[in-house]
Amino acid sequence: MKKKAFNQIQEQHVQALATFQTTHALAIGNVPDQEVDVEDAAGSVSEADLRGISAVVHEGFDIEGEIVSEDDMELGEPIEEGDLAHGSVTETDLCVREWGGDFDTRDHTDKESDSEAEEENSLCQFLVSWNARHKITREALKDLLVGLRIHNHPELPLDTRTLLHTNLDYSVEDRCGGSYVYISLAKSLPSALSKVHSVSVDSNTELHLQFNIDGLPVFNNSTQCIWPILCRVVKPFISPVCVVALYAGRRKPNCFNEFLRPFVDEMVLILQNGVEISTGVTCRVSIHSFVCDAPARADIKRTKHVNYHQGCDKCTVEGIYTKERRMTFNSTKSAKRCDADFDLPLLPVEYRVQDSVLRNLQVGMVSQFPLDYMHLTLLGLVRRMARDWQDGLLHSKAFPFHVRRATINALQSAVVNCAVRMPHEFQRRCRALQECDSWKATEARQFLLYLGPVILKDVLDEKMYEHFKLLSTAIRCLCSEELLGIYIDHANSFLTQFVDEYVKYYGNKCVYSVHGHCHIADDARVFGVLDNFSGFPFESYLGSLKGMVNKSHQVVQQIVRRISERELSETLPEDRMVLKHRHKCGPEIDGRPHLLQYGSALVGHSHIACDRRGQNDCCFRVDNNVCVVRNILAESDSDNLYIVYSVYEKVEPLFDTPVDSTDIGIHVVSELSDEVFYTAFDNRWHKCVHLPLDNNRAVAIQLLHKP
Ligand SMILES: [Zn+2]
Repeated sequence: MKKKAFNQIQEQHVQALATFQTTHALAIGNVPDQEVDVEDAAGSVSEADLRGISAVVHEGFDIEGEIVSEDDMELGEPIEEGDLAHGSVTETDLCVREWGGDFDTRDHTDKESDSEAEEENSLCQFLVSWNARHKITREALKDLLVGLRIHNHPELPLDTRTLLHTNLDYSVEDRCGGSYVYISLAKSLPSALSKVHSVSVDSNTELHLQFNIDGLPVFNNSTQCIWPILCRVVKPFISPVCVVALYAGRRKPNCFNEFLRPFVDEMVLILQNGVEISTGVTCRVSIHSFVCDAPARADIKRTKHVNYHQGCDKCTVEGIYTKERRMTFNSTKSAKRCDADFDLPLLPVEYRVQDSVLRNLQVGMVSQFPLDYMHLTLLGLVRRMARDWQDGLLHSKAFPFHVRRATINALQSAVVNCAVRMPHEFQRRCRALQECDSWKATEARQFLLYLGPVILKDVLDEKMYEHFKLLSTAIRCLCSEELLGIYIDHANSFLTQFVDEYVKYYGNKCVYSVHGHCHIADDARVFGVLDNFSGFPFESYLGSLKGMVNKSHQVVQQIVRRISERELSETLPEDRMVLKHRHKCGPEIDGRPHLLQYGSALVGHSHIACDRRGQNDCCFRVDNNVCVVRNILAESDSDNLYIVYSVYEKVEPLFDTPVDSTDIGIHVVSELSDEVFYTAFDNRWHKCVHLPLDNNRAVAIQLLHKP
C-alpha cells in the first residue's frame, strides 16, 4: 500500500479510537473528571494506549464468529440478497438510508450514541473516499476491514461490498452478441445531478441532454471491447457524465438497432413525461446532440462508413478510391445533406443502409450529430500532418513542398524544448514529433493551437506554414467564446481553403478526416464553441470505465458495480483558492504593508506564479496589456487577492495572415517595463502560454481551455 494512503488510514484510525475511548468510557459509566477534547485525545494517543483500548474492546464485542463466516465468501462474485451478514444494498436503500444505518443495528437514543454513530459514519465515509482516491484492490480493502475490526472497530462491515454500497441489483442480458446491462437514464441522471451543488433544479428546468456512444478496447492484447451509452446535461448547466447502458463483447454489437432499442424506448417516454430528478421534481428533457466519432456515427445512424464512396455524413460528395487504397473526397462544394433526407424511402445503393431506431426520437439525423473535433481534427488530421512531415512523399525532392530532414530535426527539438515551458494547466506535455502517432488529443491540441504556430514559423516551407495557419487559426476561433461570434465566417472560409489546398501540400490524401473540416463551422453555428460538442468529457470518462475492469470475465458486471461504488465517494472539485510559497521579497504595494506575500497561487483552475517563482505561470493578458506577475499579495484573513505586475511595452503580431495574430490572442512581446502596478485578480485576467522566441522576445498565447 502507498505510504501516503497508509498514513491517512493511521491518522483516521487514531482519531476514531480517541473518540471511541471517550464514548466507550461514557457508555460504561467511567466518565473522566474533565471533558476530553477529541482533537487533543487524538494527538496524545500512543501505541501503548492503542493496545490498551484494543483490549477493552475485545472484552465488550465478540466478533470472531462473523469474521469466519464472511471470510469464506468469494469476493467479486454475484451474491443473493440476504447472503451478506450486513444485508445487501438495494437501490431504495441507496436513496433513503443515511450513512451508518447499514452498519449498526443498535438503538441510538442519547447524544453519546449519536456522536458514536457519527464517528462510525465518518470512518466509513473516509474509507470509501480513501479507497476511491488510491484505487485500493478489493483484497487489500478487505484485509484492512478485517484488521480494523479486530482493532476496535466492530461496527465496520467485513465485506467491501457492504462498505462501498456496491449495486448488486442489476440484470445482465445477452444482447447483440455480448453481455448488456441497461442501467436507465431515470436512475443514472438523478445520481449525476446530485453531484452538481451549485445549481438548483426545479420542475421548470428543461434539461438538454448530450449523448455519447462509442466503443473502446478493454485490454491491449484482446478483441474484448465495451460500448457504453453515456449522457450528460449541457444546458442550463454542465453535469458530470453518467452511464445509461453498457455492452461488452468480443466484438462490437452485431445489431446497433437492438443495442439502442432499450435506450430509445425509455427516451420516448422521458421526452413525453420528463424525468424525476428528486422526490416531487420532474424536469422536462430535450436532446441536444449525439457526440461520436465517425465510425460510431455511421453505426448508430445506420449509414455507410467513411471508407465508402458516400462516406461523408454532412454532404453528398462522391469519394474517389485511389490506387493507394484510400477513399478521398476532393470537393467542398457538394450539396449538403439534411435531416429530411432520412425521411425518404431507402434505396438499394445509397448513403443509408438501414432505418435507424434513433429516428423514433425525432432527432435531426444530420443536424444533431455534429462533427467532434477531438476525433476529427486532433486525433485525425493533426497527427496525420505531423506524420506526413516526417516521412514519405514530402521527403521527395520531386514534390513541390518537400520537408527537409534538417527541418524535421529542428522541429523535433523545438517541440521538446517548448513543451517544458507550458503552464501547469496542461497536465500532459506534448511528446516529441516522432511520437505523434501516439499523441493523445490534448497533446495534438497543444501542438495545433500553441506550439505549432510558433515553432513551424521559419522552419516549415513558408507556403506550408500559411496552410497550417488556416487550420490553427480557424480552430482557435471556433474554440473561443470571445472569438466565435466575430470570426465564424472567416473560420469557415479558412477551413474550406485548407481542405481545397490540402492535396497541393500533402499529395492525394484528402480523406474524410481532412474533408470533414469544411463542415465543422456549420456545427459551431448551431452548437457554439467546439468544446460544447467535443468528445473530451466522454473520453476521460471512458478511460475511467476501462480502469474499472480487472479481469476478462464478467466485464459489464465489474463496471456496473464500480460505478455504483463511485457514486458515494465522488464529489465535484469546487473552485478554491490555495496560496503557496510565502516570502518577503516584494515588490509590495505602498501603504498596504499588512498584506502577506506569496510566490504562487491556485485560483479555481488558474495557476498564478511570480516571475521569479515559475516562468511558465507568470504571463497574463489583462484588458489590452500582456503582463508578467511580479508578486502575489493577500489579506491575512480574507480571500482578496492582489497581483503586482509589470507590462510588456512592445506587443507585435506573430503573423498577420490569415488574420492579425494579436486579434486572436497571439502576441510577440518584448521590453518588459520595470514599473509595477497592482490590481485585484478577477475575470479580466486571462492566462497566457509564454514561450521564448529569442533572447529579447517571447510569444504570449492566450489559453483557450480549462484543464
Ligand atoms: Zn462532406
